[in-house]
Amino acid sequence: MNNKEVMAFVDEHVMHTYGRFPIAIEKGKGATMYDFDGKKYIDFAAGIGVSSLGQADEDWVDAITQQAKTLGHASNLFYTKPMADAAQMLCDITGMDKVFFANSGAEANEGAIKLARKYSFDKYGEGRAKIITLINSFHGRTITTLRATGQDVFHQYFFPFTDGFCHVPSGDKEALLEAITDDVCAVMIELIQGEGGVMPVDKEYANFVQDICREKDLLFIVDEVQTGVGRTGAFYAFMKYGLSPDVVTSAKGIAGGLPMGAILAKNTCSGVLGAGTHATTFGANPVCCAAAKVAIGKISDKKFLEEVEKKGEYIREKIIAFGSKKVRGVRGMGLMIGVIVPEGEHKKLARKMIDNGLLCITAGKDAIRLLPPLVITYEEIDEGLKIMKNTLDAED
Ligand SMILES: *Cc1c(COP(=O)(O)O)cnc(C)c1O
Repeated sequence: MNNKEVMAFVDEHVMHTYGRFPIAIEKGKGATMYDFDGKKYIDFAAGIGVSSLGQADEDWVDAITQQAKTLGHASNLFYTKPMADAAQMLCDITGMDKVFFANSGAEANEGAIKLARKYSFDKYGEGRAKIITLINSFHGRTITTLRATGQDVFHQYFFPFTDGFCHVPSGDKEALLEAITDDVCAVMIELIQGEGGVMPVDKEYANFVQDICREKDLLFIVDEVQTGVGRTGAFYAFMKYGLSPDVVTSAKGIAGGLPMGAILAKNTCSGVLGAGTHATTFGANPVCCAAAKVAIGKISDKKFLEEVEKKGEYIREKIIAFGSKKVRGVRGMGLMIGVIVPEGEHKKLARKMIDNGLLCITAGKDAIRLLPPLVITYEEIDEGLKIMKNTLDAED
């Protein structure tokens, strides 16, 4: 099959939920991908920050293969070992105490929301269930996490949404204090708003949020679904910010490409979701956990994280040095990068870059978002940047 045939095949049988770019990816190795016409692409997208080890990492493939041959699924009605291995690694690295495994970011956030509400219910009874999130945030696509998302465009069609959320502007301490009424149980924030446009949240403000949460016994939840597992050059962005959240949610890159979400919690609240209160059939799947062990093990290495930081700086400097009229600036940390272009032109420019052989995505109103595999080589980076420069030059 060629690209056109695969696209027609998909459109015939799969719901048209996505505005897909008009290519069909067939295969890849590291940060180099190929479509069904045999055309090569440099991958600056990693499947939305998921393929952190790139395509076909040998250790990852071996671990998955071995685990699939041993035990593919048993459900959470039984004990299995890979989940403990992966959870132990996450706790050792982060200083968090316990993990709940889910299957996606939205699900991890949904679980964190339940955890926060029950924490408050157990301690204070009914009527303290509201969760504050930031304007321009993104927390997922379920009815509840859409409501948690602080962007009005997501609050359409699917009424009624879950009650009990309010949104405050990032960085505005007064607005936060005003929003903390007696019915609030938690504050949930991203540290770099990903979908919202690669917008880092101010460090002092994030610490202020944490302090006020401690003071009022609100749970401080950090949504690290996109920023997590090495993406920003720290294992989690909260570690870079010097924070100590009660709850951290993780997904995207956590298993290097297999579906997994996780809620990490401190002992102060990790016992709240007792037997019968929360569950998932697929969660902690042994094959996904085996994959996560490889991803977490490689990425948590200090040298690996330093490389992520260096590669990010290298890419940001090179892009600024293009001197393109279209580039208004560069935002982000590590290998989570937003190239700021004139408002409304990001999608058109991303499409052109893809046509020219560079996979990238967009965010917010004005950002071309780069989330390359963390293992991307300098050779691949240079090749990708060349395509980006040529594409931008053609626009100047
Ligand atoms: C992608 C994302 C989600 C949703 O994750 P899914 O796996 O698509 O459900 C939630 N929060 C943030 C910050 C994200 O970037």
